Amino acid sequence: MQALIDDMFARELSADGRAARNYRALASVRRKVFDLHGLPLELRFNPDRVKSVMAEVDELSLSQRPCFLCPDGLEQHQLTTLWTAPAPSNEEADHQAHAHTYAFRVNPYPIFDRHLTISALEHTRQQIDGRLTDMLCIARLINRYTLFYNGPHCGASAPDHMHFQAIPRHQLPIEQTTDWDEIAPGISVHRFFESGAVRLRSTSPTLLVSTITRLLSRATTPAHEWEPRINLLCFCDKPESAPLEQEPHSSVQEPLNTSVQEPLNTSVQEPNTLEQEPHSSVQEPLDTSVQEPLNTSVQEPLYTAILFFRRESRPHQFFLPESERILFSPATVEMAGIGIVADERSFERIDQDLLTDMLAEVSLPRHDLEQLVLFP
Ligand SMILES: [Zn+2]
Repeated sequence: MQALIDDMFARELSADGRAARNYRALASVRRKVFDLHGLPLELRFNPDRVKSVMAEVDELSLSQRPCFLCPDGLEQHQLTTLWTAPAPSNEEADHQAHAHTYAFRVNPYPIFDRHLTISALEHTRQQIDGRLTDMLCIARLINRYTLFYNGPHCGASAPDHMHFQAIPRHQLPIEQTTDWDEIAPGISVHRFFESGAVRLRSTSPTLLVSTITRLLSRATTPAHEWEPRINLLCFCDKPESAPLEQEPHSSVQEPLNTSVQEPLNTSVQEPNTLEQEPHSSVQEPLDTSVQEPLNTSVQEPLYTAILFFRRESRPHQFFLPESERILFSPATVEMAGIGIVADERSFERIDQDLLTDMLAEVSLPRHDLEQLVLFP
């Protein structure tokens, strides 16, 4: 799968389209770096992200724009690699009738030099329920990438179409930091960074899914919304000797919205002879907490999930009169320590204190976070 994705990047970025131009422009993005007790927070000025930062996500606005994750809304030259997740386990089959298929695409408006969107094939709303196992499976499949999910009211610019994103590993400050305090078995909060983050680690994807599900069930879902406000990232550390996963039904599709269709005989079918993903056969009880010791010899893949609990979509500075307004609309990347702003005035105004204040304002406060984790 990673080879297919490399191929997709190589082909798209050699075309003289918007993606190629935007990826070249990334090299000149201005940056400010701050230091929060050794955590290197960063602010980036990226004017190409203005559409994402300013995205109107109310139902009327959504209904009046073409969905950029559906075939009719794709950019010119945009390729698609399809991948189908393993069939749901017996427990999941109660809620999920069939395996989900995802479209992997190069993000034409990147924040990082490799930036993927991974969207559901069908136009269905952004909702993490029923997708956590798929998410961990994808994190293992493309373990050179960190995968993330923006909740529908937490930075997702397409809350009407289910999607993940992926960027190269080791880019986000929170991924690098070791300043975690364990407050419950297997569950840690960051010592300094008030971003509502809890970190969970396990070699068992089933256990991790059940723990995240339990935490989500305890969190508040605001009125008229369909899930608690969260951002979620995950990645998988895979031992070199681990067997490769089965990669069913992967193929690269030529652009879907161009009038001149190239022949589809370039599709690359992955071999299906490799070992089956282990999670479909491992059935662990759903009510245990993440208590297994970390396997420090790393003989099994180790999954890390960082869940950011949010209380606001945007900080109050976003809604100030235009002359004072700060165009900062935090999603996973911001919660993980890299702020992206699309206008120069906001970039000039934001210093370390303002950045950490804005992140704290949109995050569940530390006390509430600890209550959520510790007391059902
Ligand atoms: Zn769509």
